[in-house]
Amino acid sequence: SSLSSSYPTNENFKVVIRVRPPLPRETREDLEFRGIVNVSPDHKSCAIMEYLGAEVGEYERQRDMDANPHLCVWQSFTFDHVYDQHSTQENVYETTAKPAVWSVLEGYNATILAYGQTGTGKTYTMEGFKYSAGDPQRGIVPRSMEEIFRFIQMQSSQNTTFMVRASYLQIYNEVISDLLKIDRTSLQIREDKKKGVFVEGLSEWAVRSPNEIYSLMQKGALSRATATTKMNDMSSRSHAVFIIIVEQMTTMTDTTPQQQQMLMMQQHYVDDDAPKQIKVGKLNLVDLAGSERVRVTGATGKRLEESKKINQSLSCLGNVIAALTDQRPRAHIPYRDSKLTRLLEDSLGGNCKTTMMAMISPAAEGFGESISTLKFATRAK
Ligand code: ADP
Ligand code: MG
Repeated sequence: SSLSSSYPTNENFKVVIRVRPPLPRETREDLEFRGIVNVSPDHKSCAIMEYLGAEVGEYERQRDMDANPHLCVWQSFTFDHVYDQHSTQENVYETTAKPAVWSVLEGYNATILAYGQTGTGKTYTMEGFKYSAGDPQRGIVPRSMEEIFRFIQMQSSQNTTFMVRASYLQIYNEVISDLLKIDRTSLQIREDKKKGVFVEGLSEWAVRSPNEIYSLMQKGALSRATATTKMNDMSSRSHAVFIIIVEQMTTMTDTTPQQQQMLMMQQHYVDDDAPKQIKVGKLNLVDLAGSERVRVTGATGKRLEESKKINQSLSCLGNVIAALTDQRPRAHIPYRDSKLTRLLEDSLGGNCKTTMMAMISPAAEGFGESISTLKFATRAK
């Protein structure tokens, strides 16, 4: 179609959609589940249906739709990829997260963001359902770790040593807290030439095997602040960011004088014995706060203020991504408008692989939020 042919491809910037399967609470024994999202066979676009008829029960709605197809209005959206409800965690990892992990192993920074209404599968996609090795439902965080360690094991060279470190933080109401050292809160973002952007005082945990990530994930999940809203029993009101840093140090044993000169010019470490090349890559895996709008959850008072801040920080993210993906180069990228965008300043755009994964529900009751998620994701292209 004309839409897909005009869709710009940027290898470093991807926007993908994932439609989760219907949950038990959305299905009825006496009625076939009818989703409102159709994914195209080539998985490049999806269409979402709005039902213009009266607000009636599911049974009446389905009967009405069949009798009056003009009450069903379809809107179509095109992306880099749309995962339908049958997509597996492995599919998502292999085609969407793996390239980001590989670029980190090459010494670049990369970011994967999970966006969407609460209950659409952000945490499922990023972390997985159960925290155990080998489980088919494990998500992007443990699979990335496995990939990194597979890569390390593949390196036959004795000259390269690796250091893998992980941190896990939360941004709640614009306050950064360490999820792995709960007494560390109100942390500040700093920047320096060597480390890039970093959070001062954030604990870093050396990871020596992929399985060590599970205890960190569990520890973090326990300390993650959650609150009850009308919409969902446990609703995530905060951004959770998993940061994985991979450092590789290669001792250059047989460099020519010219190569040594080059290394020195590139500010790689050089000591008395042999020049060493250091490659550092940072992977940011971000489980964003629920994108649902305030009026839907009927929040008031403190909860309303909290929701405003969440919406604000998500719209800052949208603004930064829109500025980065704009056809015309922009001089000013508004990173400073929120903690999250400030934190990701050296990991979005440019050579950094950035992937926005927007999650939606297949159910009719999710229409309003789903369409707003699809629009947000479209703006990010
Ligand atoms: P969020 O983090 O966006 O609030 P969750 O990841 O907690 O949403 O998902 C909500 C529920 O849906 C959970 O019970 C989760 O296990 C289930 N779920 C989400 N995505 C999938 C999926 N792709 N396959 C199976 N179950 C899913
Ligand atoms: Mg969640």
